[in-house]
Amino acid sequence: MQQGLFGDESVAQNCIFCKIIAGKAPAHILYRDEQVLSFLDISPVSAGHTLIIPLKHHDNLFTLSGEEMTAVALHAKRLAPIIKRVSKAEGLAIHQLNGRAAGQTVFHYHMHLIPSHHGGPKLIHGRRPAAPSALAEIAADIRQALTKG
Ligand code: AMP
Ligand code: ZN
Repeated sequence: MQQGLFGDESVAQNCIFCKIIAGKAPAHILYRDEQVLSFLDISPVSAGHTLIIPLKHHDNLFTLSGEEMTAVALHAKRLAPIIKRVSKAEGLAIHQLNGRAAGQTVFHYHMHLIPSHHGGPKLIHGRRPAAPSALAEIAADIRQALTKG
């Protein structure tokens, strides 16, 4: 089995987030560098619900390196206030699930950033996919805010 950026190649071929990284599945991408990628969750709890992933495939936290974890955390620190502002939220929840027992459903490590509103749902998973046009619109706003800093 060939080892590459994604680790085990068969894992990468079957992992939806590895497909997004490889450009083989669509996503509303917010940011990418040599370590991390962020994109909108397809079934958001609230508008602006974002996922941050390491480029290298890890099923969950247990195999992630400290360096990768730091890269995800630093991107979250930069992105959180921007997402909160663009989505006009009053707070922002961060969730990160490890293993089916914890409720994880996609087995490529990821951190959820979920804009929170007073009286709004306190969920980790959204109930249905958002309209692609709504995702595209907020993604464009977040990308623009990111470039301004
Ligand atoms: P978790 O339960 O923490 O593993 O969350 C997985 C998240 O990935 C869920 O909130 C899904 O809505 C989201 N998701 C699944 N497939 C995609 C996709 N193709 N693009 C964006 N988000 C996705
Ligand atoms: Zn993956």
